[in-house]
Amino acid sequence: MTRSRRTKIVCTLGPASRARETIAAIIDAGMDVARLNTSHGTPEEHLALASLVREVAKEHQRHIGVLMDLGGPKLRTGDVADEAGQIALIGGQRIALEPERVESTAGRIGVDYPRLCEDVGAGERVLVDDGAIALVVESVEADALICRVTHGGTLTANRGVSLPDSKLTLPALTDRDRHYIALGVESGIDFFALSFVGSAADVSEAKSIVGFLGAETPVIAKIERRQAIEHLDEIAMVSDGLMVARGDLGVELPPESVPVQQRRIIAAAAERLIPVITATQMLESMTNSPRPTRAESSDVAHAVWDLSDAVMLSGETAAGRYPVESVAMMDRIVRAAEEAEPVVEPARLRPSTDNHAYVVALAARQIVESDLNMRGVVCFTRSGYTALLLSKVHPDAEIYGLSPTEGVCRQLALARGVTPILVPFVEHSEEMLQIVDSTLSADGMFERGDEAVVVASLPVRAAGRTNFLKLHRVGETAGHA
Ligand code: PEP
Repeated sequence: MTRSRRTKIVCTLGPASRARETIAAIIDAGMDVARLNTSHGTPEEHLALASLVREVAKEHQRHIGVLMDLGGPKLRTGDVADEAGQIALIGGQRIALEPERVESTAGRIGVDYPRLCEDVGAGERVLVDDGAIALVVESVEADALICRVTHGGTLTANRGVSLPDSKLTLPALTDRDRHYIALGVESGIDFFALSFVGSAADVSEAKSIVGFLGAETPVIAKIERRQAIEHLDEIAMVSDGLMVARGDLGVELPPESVPVQQRRIIAAAAERLIPVITATQMLESMTNSPRPTRAESSDVAHAVWDLSDAVMLSGETAAGRYPVESVAMMDRIVRAAEEAEPVVEPARLRPSTDNHAYVVALAARQIVESDLNMRGVVCFTRSGYTALLLSKVHPDAEIYGLSPTEGVCRQLALARGVTPILVPFVEHSEEMLQIVDSTLSADGMFERGDEAVVVASLPVRAAGRTNFLKLHRVGETAGHA
């Protein structure tokens, strides 16, 4: 039996991939989760795309999650006064940075951060346009920062601004983000991702808005600011997932720090038993070329070996020339990496927990790996928790996550190694075993005589967590013997 791909693929959808037939082809090529980047486009476009993904996924009988990425408080420059729409900044020149989004001229740059002169000090760096232009603050005046250009370039309108050395007092969520959360909850979005998180309180605020709206949609913290790196453990503690957002992280930190922090972020997610997505520039060159560079394919493989739950495509699928080919390539690289290293050693990522549910999951792993006749772990999960837990112990075997809730199946689309399956609600262990014998056998996942480890939380209606483990020979329940 061929193994399923364990590491999941997140694809950002955009102008290059929003046609029905492209979405269908991307699903066939291996997309598990569709990402909507709300930094671009309108709410109407995103909601239409979310429902199109749902529709096509249903036709393909796949559980595809939809992740809404909230733009967060990204700082930007204003328009450019010059008619040509650009200003040349030359190394060594002085320029004032003003704390509002006024038009930029040869003598000043407007930035939409009212606390600029309070939060940024002399000697600190200002990076504009993903670091293409660099300034250093020489002095702070009441209404402007006086800066020297250390790396010149051409400034155009609405460029991103990063202040890597400063402690900013940014709001966690903009009004636009709050509006998107309300729309996302209403339309049953499966995950939110929060940009420019600086502290655990930022994530808690987003989660409390989601809760206030009566939903439990997971909130994934994008780790892309130096401040987030400094508060990583607290952020991981309150988040439902982490994203290694290497695009902005690579602006705030020097390039050599990004892979080091990537490993730290993956380890923090393992410690808290939450999923982690490795993102950005994974197959960047495929935006314009049908083949990736060797370094890119190696990067994807290492993200797999480091135990990312998912790897993400951004511009490659949103705006590139080869969106479907990028997904197919990602799928091939991941499969080859997984085949080369089928047994992962999670010991180094072991969480420090006395959680008994985790111990049950570890036992399931040991048992399923102990016998060649064992075909996989089947878990019955109402909230998704048991399946996530099993995913985090990384058994060298298939994990089938059986849930009566479609939304949970879509959330499990992000969990490494888990195949989500929608089943009727059952309460008793005998009924669970019958489902294994009937549904999973009928779908060709098991054959009569195969053995499975069945894991669940009993009683099903209680709030208890993962306390049931049964070795089951397929075909041996009453009525199927
Ligand atoms: C990133 O910065 O890596 C990222 C994923 O965020 P965005 O694509 O929103 O810039």
